[in-house]
Amino acid sequence: MAEPTIITAPPALRREKISFEALKVIQRLQAQGFQAYLAGGGVRDLLLGRHPKDFDIATSAQPNEVRRVFHNCRLIGRRFRLAHILFRGMFIEVATFRSPVVAEDDTEQETPLAGRDAPPEAFRARDGMILRDNVFGTAEQDAWRRDFTVNGLFYDPEAHQVIDYVGGLPDLDRRLLRSIGEPLIRYREDPVRMLRACRFAGTLDFQIEPHADHAIHALRNDLALASPSRMYEEVLKLFNSGAAEPIFRHLHRTGLFSVIFPEAGAWLNTEAGEAAQLRIYHALRQMDVWKRHGHDINPALAWAVAFGPYHEHLAVQQEKQGLKTSPALAMATINHLHGLAKHVQVFKHVVRDASLIMAAQPTFEKTREGVRSERFRTRHYFGDALVYLKLRSAWTGTGAELVQWWQQHL
Ligand code: ATP
Ligand code: MG
Repeated sequence: MAEPTIITAPPALRREKISFEALKVIQRLQAQGFQAYLAGGGVRDLLLGRHPKDFDIATSAQPNEVRRVFHNCRLIGRRFRLAHILFRGMFIEVATFRSPVVAEDDTEQETPLAGRDAPPEAFRARDGMILRDNVFGTAEQDAWRRDFTVNGLFYDPEAHQVIDYVGGLPDLDRRLLRSIGEPLIRYREDPVRMLRACRFAGTLDFQIEPHADHAIHALRNDLALASPSRMYEEVLKLFNSGAAEPIFRHLHRTGLFSVIFPEAGAWLNTEAGEAAQLRIYHALRQMDVWKRHGHDINPALAWAVAFGPYHEHLAVQQEKQGLKTSPALAMATINHLHGLAKHVQVFKHVVRDASLIMAAQPTFEKTREGVRSERFRTRHYFGDALVYLKLRSAWTGTGAELVQWWQQHL
């Protein structure tokens, strides 16, 4: 067992940013003789002076022991047993320390515990990929099974100490995302870590450490093995991160974009597609602005906007085969987004709404007055379609008058 680096009272870490509920849960567990720490992204964000999204707790208490300590506790997940401690309108997630990787051929089925981050059962397995990740461990083991060093820190609010087993503190200072352990092994275990590397590099404005970055180039095709439903959740996180533009730049740079979105990726690398990249980055930047203003982005709008230029390109091909613009846009959107299913399972209603947003575009031009126009305004996708119209006008430098007219006649 290696000794961790322990920093007492790190000046950057302001305890008052930690939710009262998380502090209470840690206090109670420690009072019962268990180890309990704030873990993962919460500690990282506090040390960076950012507001953590949530406060995850890691503890030596096993799920049933956690339940004994809290009457307001619910154990969730059959295989991933996590405790949710319920408070008014929110919950705190408590996970028992886990040990790293269980070998794939190990068929023992005991201790059904893993985190929500473990790959789902429906994984398309191949050598080296973790299928199960569900054995209790020590705090140190729990730190080592995490993905990047800056995500492997613990914080003990009672002692006001950061506990670093994995070298996360110096990497925070260097603003580096370094894989815990050999990246080629860690990405093979769980290829979604490559996507996470891009997400954190984008949101935190960190560099991916060169070794971890090269490993992405080498193993990027493995991302195609991840479960399509998990990938959908991951892509939504990218859209909603507030840093969608830098993240997609990393995805493009590393080649992950073309693995997840093969057709759009191939098109973006053609001459016509290269011009469209500017539009896409503009759209993503706009999404980041909305997010900074506290707006959550409707998934259908995010998909419509991010792939709009590509869908418009596809629609032109459909029109050449005789379809009218509106159905051509709808068809292009539906075909492409449904066609992603092998890699990313976009929900049916999201595909439908994204296609409605696109199909509505010609309607703005054609239907300014009358009953049809009144009906158009009441459609659930009207607001999002207008947002698309605005973006498109910015991309093309045309149609400003049309946007203005609709804004004045809402
Ligand atoms: P965010 O701010 O986006 O929530 P986060 O670092 O908290 O970032 P989560 O997905 O909430 O990320 O996961 C919490 C922690 O669990 C991570 O910080 C990391 O330590 C660990 N973790 C999550 N996913 C993985 C994974 N695929 N492999 C290894 N460790 C992971
Ligand atoms: Mg988190």
